[in-house]
Amino acid sequence: MGKALIIGAGGVASVVAHKCCQVPDVFEEICIASRTLSKCEAIKDKIDGGKTKVTVAQVDADKTEEVIELINSFKPEIVINVALPYQDLTIMDACLATGVHYLDTANYEPPETAKFEYKWQWEYKQKFEEAGLTALLGSGFDPGVTGVFTAYAQKHHFDEINYIDIVDANGGDHGYPFATNFNPEINIREITANGRYWENGEWIETPPLSEKREYNLDQIGPKNIYLLYHEELESLAVNIKGLKRIRFWMTFSDNYLNHLKVLENVGMTSIEPINYEGKEIIPLQFLKEILPDPASLGPRTKGKTNIGCIIQGTKDGKPKTYYVYNICDHQECYREVGSQAISYTTGVPAMIGAMLIMKGQWKRPGVYNVEEFDPDPFMDALNKYGLPWQENFSPTLID
Ligand code: NDP
Repeated sequence: MGKALIIGAGGVASVVAHKCCQVPDVFEEICIASRTLSKCEAIKDKIDGGKTKVTVAQVDADKTEEVIELINSFKPEIVINVALPYQDLTIMDACLATGVHYLDTANYEPPETAKFEYKWQWEYKQKFEEAGLTALLGSGFDPGVTGVFTAYAQKHHFDEINYIDIVDANGGDHGYPFATNFNPEINIREITANGRYWENGEWIETPPLSEKREYNLDQIGPKNIYLLYHEELESLAVNIKGLKRIRFWMTFSDNYLNHLKVLENVGMTSIEPINYEGKEIIPLQFLKEILPDPASLGPRTKGKTNIGCIIQGTKDGKPKTYYVYNICDHQECYREVGSQAISYTTGVPAMIGAMLIMKGQWKRPGVYNVEEFDPDPFMDALNKYGLPWQENFSPTLID
């Protein structure tokens, strides 16, 4: 059917590339392009492309001109941006300049501030509409599948959704004293920021990791979950009518939090540049260099993830609860595509979003979050491509 350009060559990109090759009638050719060519080549070497042709390229996606040049030579239908959030706008600009659809898994971040806001990308709506192009934002797991789960609940199970609790649990163990499951810089920026949730039209801030509950998760068991701000809260608060409250919870072990506290206390998680022997460095970026590469955790990580949405609302005038979630096994992911479940649960939905745009099912000019499209083909594809979901109609609620 066509070609896809994958930008980035990290843990997520590797899964996207593997998964695209499982759907050769849609992805006839893929190009894996990133700043470090050797990483693209390493992914290509791991993949048995089958019928899908796989090529690689070097690109610095901070430079719009370089992305334009690459798109013009490769001529894809879509760019799947799984580099870092800092490159979202330069890549969107390049897509507009060349007439190519766009997809990402994380919202744009200005390098100097940790904001987690869709504002900059939503401002591109008119430009994509006028160009007749689709930009699909946040097509990973969270954001991504959590939005699709919510849209599915809205379509099939509720007249009105009032409360959503998204719970992201990782019961995996990689055996290192401390490592992050995806890009450490983005991960630590997210966790050390204030918590925030949306209630009755207002954002309520909480000190970092101050709201804690215990929750018993299917196939994982009881875990401590902590309230965090997460970017899908912003779009779901806008797109789900009748919503009264939405919160996001993530599991962290005591060991992880102790390490993080020490790193924070000594200033290693700061994004303020410091001068070290005449060179400006950002402590958090330096820390990223010395922590294990998330892409290397695959062979070591054992256990499961469980991510889903606990939803309360009404159907036919009666109160209703609904929990929809996916369980993913780290070792099974590794056996299939050579990556752990965090990369897998992000890369599979990125491939699915791109597939639905290429097939025309989710093609609509403008800039959209996943919950704005028909969830059904996405939910079917989750079952088919490795992320089957489960339902529970009487879940334990979070107070
Ligand atoms: P990694 O750090 O493993 O990989 C990022 C890749 O992007 C690297 O190959 C890196 O290249 C490349 N890159 C960075 N800067 C540039 C640039 N200027 N030009 C070209 N390539 C560049 O990250 P992950 O694979 O773990 O994560 C990828 C994305 O997925 C991130 O945006 C992350 O926030 C998002 N994500 C989303 C989730 C979701 O559920 N929605 C969950 C997990 C992640 P180099 O190696 O040269 O530095």
